[in-house]
Amino acid sequence: MLRSRLCSAAISAAGVALVVLFMSACSVPAARSGGATPPPGATAAPSKQPKPSPSAKPKPTPTVPKLTGSVVPVNLPPQAGIGPFGSIKSTGSASIALTFDDGPDPVYTPKMLDLLKKHGVRATFCVVGTQAARYPALVKRIVADGHTICNHTWQHRMDLGKQSKEVILTDLRDTNKAILKAAPRAKIKYFRAPGGYFSPQLVQLAAALGMKSVYWSLDTRDWEFAKYDHGQPMVDHIVETVRSGARRGSIILAHDFHKPDTLMAFTALVPWLKKYFKLIPMPT
Ligand SMILES: [Zn+2]
Repeated sequence: MLRSRLCSAAISAAGVALVVLFMSACSVPAARSGGATPPPGATAAPSKQPKPSPSAKPKPTPTVPKLTGSVVPVNLPPQAGIGPFGSIKSTGSASIALTFDDGPDPVYTPKMLDLLKKHGVRATFCVVGTQAARYPALVKRIVADGHTICNHTWQHRMDLGKQSKEVILTDLRDTNKAILKAAPRAKIKYFRAPGGYFSPQLVQLAAALGMKSVYWSLDTRDWEFAKYDHGQPMVDHIVETVRSGARRGSIILAHDFHKPDTLMAFTALVPWLKKYFKLIPMPT
């Protein structure tokens, strides 16, 4: 079990089994820890999910939404600016970067990799060290498929930025070691703090290890089940968020750790995004 990351609970597709998840919370705005500007629409971290009642009815299986409409996203102003403490929040080009955090997940990461491969799209995976150590074959596949690897700390510790230099360095190095053990030729050029909780020291120490800190500009908030629910409402929320917010230079934040709704949403979004933008892995 992922000790320090147990933050929320989810109901399985059958609606009877309680699956304990860690709250990815990659998208909790860094403002709450360090005065950075939260992303548009950011709200407080989600409250703990209530336990399902035994009589809860199973939800209908979500379907892939059809993306229609007259929005021409390339006409939106390009993404610019920088994230908390100098972190990156734009690709720096007209291209868009998809980023998937908190994996590898034994079920959903392979499915996401299959989806991306089907469309010839490469992305960026911000992996957690303990997950990389548990699923080295998936780390190897992420790299072999041409995606960019990003360090997302050893065990998703949200307060890592407040720890001593030694604790931070050990955490980041251990994570890189787990990645390199699985994929010795991986280039680990990026770091993303859990929850976006960068601190000046965290950014500086990541840089000392050769990693740029990467924030995001478009947050799917695909972990906020208390607000958007599971299943179709979450799928629709993710799709609409990206459809209305994607623009040149966007770095899009989503998750591959136990996120079936995210996978479903990107099944529609990847081909739609490809029509309007070039999708790139964060350049190494
Ligand atoms: Zn995360």
